[in-house]
Amino acid sequence: LFCEKCNRLADGVCPVCGNKKLREVQGDDFCYFTTVTEWQVKYFEETLKSNGIPVASQGEGVSVWTRLSTHYKVFVPYECFEKTREIYRILFGQQE
Ligand SMILES: [Zn+2]
Repeated sequence: LFCEKCNRLADGVCPVCGNKKLREVQGDDFCYFTTVTEWQVKYFEETLKSNGIPVASQGEGVSVWTRLSTHYKVFVPYECFEKTREIYRILFGQQE
């Protein structure tokens, strides 16, 4: 199931906002995949794109040094989840 508010896959209740009105996930729904660090996100996005996977990222936290986000939430379409997991594993090892 899928929470439209948080773009999260959930099992009955959304773990982020507690939403219980979840709907069936669609293949083209952008779902939260994971959070990566600033130095990982570019590499990850480029690799996904070169594999034909559309990707969206959202910055989180701001570094006092660079004034850029320190972490990025990565969203990919549900239908690309398996492939994304594979690519993540190849690039960064096992997902936590
Ligand atoms: Zn939610």
